[in-house]
Amino acid sequence: MTRFLTPELNELEPYVPGEQPRSVKKLIKLNTNESPYPPCPDALKAASEQAPRARLYPDPTCRVLTAAIGAFYGIGQEHILCTNGSDEALAFLFRAFCPRGAVFADVTYGFYPVFADLFGIRCRTVPLREDFSVNVDDYAGAKETVFLANPNAPTGLCLPPRELRRLLEQDLDRLVVVDEAYIDFGGISAVPMLKEYDNLVVVQTFSKSRQLAGGRLAFAMASKELIEELGAVKFSFNPYSVNGLAMAMGTAAMLDLDYFEKTRHQIMADREITAHALKAMGFTVTDSKANFLFVSPPRISAEQYFHLLRDRGIIVRYWPGQERIKNYVRISIGSHEDMLALLEATKEIMEVS
Ligand SMILES: *Cc1c(COP(=O)(O)O)cnc(C)c1O
Repeated sequence: MTRFLTPELNELEPYVPGEQPRSVKKLIKLNTNESPYPPCPDALKAASEQAPRARLYPDPTCRVLTAAIGAFYGIGQEHILCTNGSDEALAFLFRAFCPRGAVFADVTYGFYPVFADLFGIRCRTVPLREDFSVNVDDYAGAKETVFLANPNAPTGLCLPPRELRRLLEQDLDRLVVVDEAYIDFGGISAVPMLKEYDNLVVVQTFSKSRQLAGGRLAFAMASKELIEELGAVKFSFNPYSVNGLAMAMGTAAMLDLDYFEKTRHQIMADREITAHALKAMGFTVTDSKANFLFVSPPRISAEQYFHLLRDRGIIVRYWPGQERIKNYVRISIGSHEDMLALLEATKEIMEVS
């Protein structure tokens, strides 16, 4: 520690993102839930048209993009705030909307405890059931702001709308943040509930289902009042956090419904094929509604499986330090060919194990 660092920050344990190999040439990268497909053609065109305007500051209100999102969901623009990835929206929510601390599952998105730590927010975890499902009753009486990834990461499991409704109704003075990073792969969105509940915030991203992980683009949806307060936080930090290129690409991606439908359905289809084949080889596979599978191999440890795949040029995600999920790896759904290669490599590994 230098003598310049704020002492409280000496103990920070930063989030560890999945590896981004220098060269993805020969590697099949199934470790960070990116889309295997390029951004839609209109988004690429929008980017090149936007490029010369990079000399100007972008529109800090993201008006055009917000209108496209509003049209997609049939909600007013006053209910939407665009951010630099959902990580930024989540950071603002931790900073500004956790007056009594934060509560979330013991197995969920690893960034939640990191944000809490950075901002000095007290946080508490609630264990998932043995089968990794969320028991809403465990949150009854909790006064902290609830953070719920739905579908959850890395399990892929979804909380059904009636359960989410129960969670919201446990305490109408407690905020529930639903992180819907993976909602477009088979879950049911909480967006329609925004009309009924002003203690709900829904966060979605362009990173997983709209091919823009590198664009850093996401949005929060909530009551007009809450969005105003969240906007005040954004404008107190960086009014231009959403850059012009990302905005132009995101708007095009939001408007191209055909490409969105085609790519997400392809990913869901490949997920089901892969899940089926892995189960036939004896794997435990959760019922994922995300663009990844959460699986535990038979006979060998998850750590061995991770390394044996790596030896064959396939990278998946493994969390060595986490006791409850140490027998699992997370496999992002890549292209159809990627998944065939994964199954081929797995068959080879299983034959000698
Ligand atoms: C990927 C992911 C995010 C972050 O997405 P960005 O929009 O790229 O910041 C947020 N929440 C969960 C659960 C994720 O898996």
